[in-house]
Amino acid sequence: MNTYEAQAPGRINLIGEHTDYNLGFAMPIALEQRTTVRFEPDDTDRITLHSEEEGDGASFALSAAPGDVDGWSSYAAGVVWALTQAGHRVVGGSMKVHSDVPIGAGLSSSAALECAVLLAMNAATGTELDRLDVARLAQRGENDFVGAPTGLMDQLASLNGALDRAMLIDFLDSSVEPVVFDLDTHGLALVVVNSNAAHQHSTGEYRSRRESCTRAAGELGVGSLRQVQGVDVLDRIGDETDRRRVRHVLTENDRVLDCAKALNSSDFGRVGQLMTASHASMRDDFEITTEHIDLIADSLVRQGALGARMTGGGFGGCVIALVPSVDSEKITEAVASDIAKGGFPAPTIFTARAGGGASLQRNE
Ligand code: ADP
Ligand code: MG
Repeated sequence: MNTYEAQAPGRINLIGEHTDYNLGFAMPIALEQRTTVRFEPDDTDRITLHSEEEGDGASFALSAAPGDVDGWSSYAAGVVWALTQAGHRVVGGSMKVHSDVPIGAGLSSSAALECAVLLAMNAATGTELDRLDVARLAQRGENDFVGAPTGLMDQLASLNGALDRAMLIDFLDSSVEPVVFDLDTHGLALVVVNSNAAHQHSTGEYRSRRESCTRAAGELGVGSLRQVQGVDVLDRIGDETDRRRVRHVLTENDRVLDCAKALNSSDFGRVGQLMTASHASMRDDFEITTEHIDLIADSLVRQGALGARMTGGGFGGCVIALVPSVDSEKITEAVASDIAKGGFPAPTIFTARAGGGASLQRNE
């Protein structure tokens, strides 16, 4: 039997948080860190799973329906289910998973796993789909099978990544435009501070933020917040909390577009300002940061970063910062010390570079 190996990266969202399901804009990069799935088809009608990180998964039938599979296997089962629902062929076999994407850190190890499973399965069945279809199927698995109500950004980023390029995504038509993101040339680095805080309440809080946006769009008489522009509309939203949620989404969309312009003209001072402004909006208007995350973001800026913001859905995860490469070590040491003084757990800190998108490795 042939073996099919696919790999898909995690991602960092540079800017544009909670904008995907509001059909706005975001600008992620794919990470160099990635998840590899090695699929060995057999003639059974089941998939057995093993992950180097999580151990053995539940073996599941190709016909498994939502609710049938628990734990991390549900991400793979969700993909198989979504493929089947869309009328594509799936086959049984064993899947071996390995990843160097930090898990549960807001760097989208979930989309990396889904996209790698999908590409490996499609290679085995000879199914050819474009990247947008793959992204939508992976998202459908995560939404309707795993039960996590996430937008499309993670999958689009994992599939469309390119070396030293960010992706300006317009969720109105799911288009992806490359934007140069070559920090090295400018003596800069993207530092990632993983707080190592588990985002326990994130699913419920994510849902409630989505509900606020949907409710406000209904009140404004539009299908999505993309159809409204300018903060003047805020006066028409009755609920004070919903109003702030919408203000975040509208101002965040503007910041993403401004950030793409700033990157195109190599104005990194402006990029930094926009990152810090995005963090303030997530903290004050969307209320998805924590004391721990705010301390990290504030410390990064105080210690010399051009700008810093939480990345990912919120309530933990990672903070990213744009820093001069020569000062990177000094800044991260000072930030680690500030975190310790604040009484929070030690972070994991690394430097990220924009890497390539998901790919099929080998077909022996
Ligand atoms: P994030 O996508 O930010 O890493 P999520 O909570 O969305 O966080 O997804 C993390 C989950 O995805 C894990 O709890 C696990 O169920 C699954 N997962 C991700 N990577 C792996 C892996 N390498 N092996 C097994 N399960 C994984
Ligand atoms: Mg995820």
